[in-house]
Amino acid sequence: MTNWEECLTEAGCRITASRRAVAQVLLDISAPISPQELFELGTLIHPKLGLVTVYRTLALLESLGLVRRIHRDDGCHAYLSSSPGHRHALVCRRCGQAVEFRGGDDLETLARRVEATTGFQVDDHLLQLAGLCPGCQDR
Ligand SMILES: [Zn+2]
Ligand SMILES: [Zn+2]
Repeated sequence: MTNWEECLTEAGCRITASRRAVAQVLLDISAPISPQELFELGTLIHPKLGLVTVYRTLALLESLGLVRRIHRDDGCHAYLSSSPGHRHALVCRRCGQAVEFRGGDDLETLARRVEATTGFQVDDHLLQLAGLCPGCQDR
């Protein structure tokens, strides 16, 4: 999410103090963060930040591919900074740390098989991997 200011400007969006605070928090974390947690940390940077603005900014950044929504085991969503392009997240089950990896033709074989059996035309997928990060494997 390094060039988020550029992406926002190109999309015709203003760089406000609130958006800057949200982006700054996202750039500082390595584990996905909930909107509430983001709001609390964001107000330390920009005291006038509002929770509704946090949600709106997350939706905007997600639509630009700068933020990824992470599905958590408890059914809630958390957010992680991302970069545009075909990417997926890998989340550690124990410590919650997440990294992204580049997707490719990862699900092509599966998609073609599903098309053949269902008659659907498949053109998108959601994929998130879970496991233990190197640090948690050692413990
Ligand atoms: Zn871990
Ligand atoms: Zn993929």
